[in-house]
Amino acid sequence: MTVVTRFAPSPTGFLHIGGARTALFNWLYARHNKGKFLLRIEDTDRERSTDAAIEAIFEGLKWLGLDWDEEPVFQFSRRERHAEVARQLLAEGKAYYCYASREELAEMRETARAEGRPPVYDGRWRDRDPSEVPAGVDPVVRFKSPNEGVTIVNDLVQGDVTFANEQLDDMILLRADGTPTYMLSVVVDDYDMGITDIIRGDDHLTNAARQQQLIEAIGWPVPRRAHIPLIHGPDGAKLSKRHGALGVEAYRDMGYLPEALRNYLLRLGWSHGDDEVISTEQAIDWFNIENIGKSAARFDFAKLENLNGIYIRNADDAYLTALVAPILAQKTGQEIDPNRLKLIEKAMNGLKERAKSVNSLADSSLFLIAERPLALDEKAESLITEEASAVLKQLADRLETLEIWDKDTVEEAVRATAEVAGLKLGKIAQPLRAALTGTTVSPGIFDVLEVLGREQSIGRIRDAVSNRK
Ligand code: GLU
Repeated sequence: MTVVTRFAPSPTGFLHIGGARTALFNWLYARHNKGKFLLRIEDTDRERSTDAAIEAIFEGLKWLGLDWDEEPVFQFSRRERHAEVARQLLAEGKAYYCYASREELAEMRETARAEGRPPVYDGRWRDRDPSEVPAGVDPVVRFKSPNEGVTIVNDLVQGDVTFANEQLDDMILLRADGTPTYMLSVVVDDYDMGITDIIRGDDHLTNAARQQQLIEAIGWPVPRRAHIPLIHGPDGAKLSKRHGALGVEAYRDMGYLPEALRNYLLRLGWSHGDDEVISTEQAIDWFNIENIGKSAARFDFAKLENLNGIYIRNADDAYLTALVAPILAQKTGQEIDPNRLKLIEKAMNGLKERAKSVNSLADSSLFLIAERPLALDEKAESLITEEASAVLKQLADRLETLEIWDKDTVEEAVRATAEVAGLKLGKIAQPLRAALTGTTVSPGIFDVLEVLGREQSIGRIRDAVSNRK
């Protein structure tokens, strides 16, 4: 049977990191098995569901490269179908109308609590005679769930998890206004969408038992299920905003590459030996349920940052330049000239060596597009001493004479200038970097000279010398 998985987010907020990991696992499992990965928007909570959140989910998944098959299913639009299944259960005596009032239910909970029992519905309308129906009350429809025995969820991650049926009360399927509840909608949609495998957070484990009872009562096959431990913060506590419980777009804005975040999320709860850097092809090839961890994974920003650096260093220069361009446009308030972008692309190989994020890459390429005369930062400024100025001037004069401008010829010129002045290379390289970039960190200085080109390089050196305060 073809594997069909789904990601079923409630669009009440952005696609957060936990949801993204759930989506990734379902996507990988489907791709590994050459099956389908479907998307279902669980928008039945009309108050809290927003179009902006739906858009953010689509965008987040696309950015992460998690493409879904078929049109997304919107759960709310299927409410008639959900209600139809409830009516069928009523007709078969597997569900019943319950007329208990709000006060009655509150009292029931109070009594249960006072007696030290879980506050569950006591089934008072389960077998009641219709003649007792109170006038003017719109009933809810409840599921007649088994009272005795146990329900065992054969979970692929958690193992067999046993629930005592008396703990699982007769849940509501249709509210008094006729709208279906979440539990009913999920069961019907999973069946109608042909879902064979459900991978989701283990906060849904109890729901799994309830859903299983319902599925079995209807007579449908129970999907395979894998409930994955939630993501915790580095201190083991529930993941908070500070810990990284942010929307996927926040990671994009912080300058993480989607492939790095995807790799990180994969390792957050799944492992393949000691492998840390795992390509998408390998992930699809290797992904399985057996290697999902049983304990909560801890979110670790340092590890994510490290992976991001690795992915940046391995990334294509043109690709990185395209990512950097809009950030630079935003920083400078104008579109970046295509010739300048070419310059950045040329320098990218050196720039990406040190970068931890696309944002830091943008910062470090700023010097390439800066207009003369450059504003030197304080540290850079302090390097342009009188002595340095004199050598820089000699260097500029020597550079003027170069017939060919490439990495080798400029290097030779810099070394020769240092030698004549009786200085170590570093003594000239430092102020030179300051003059050329306005800062004290940059790619290798000969690379900088080469990409900046003759005119900009010599111009910037002379600017620094003549602007010395
Ligand atoms: N809509 C649920 C959520 O966002 C997921 C339901 C499911 O996966 O069964 O938590």
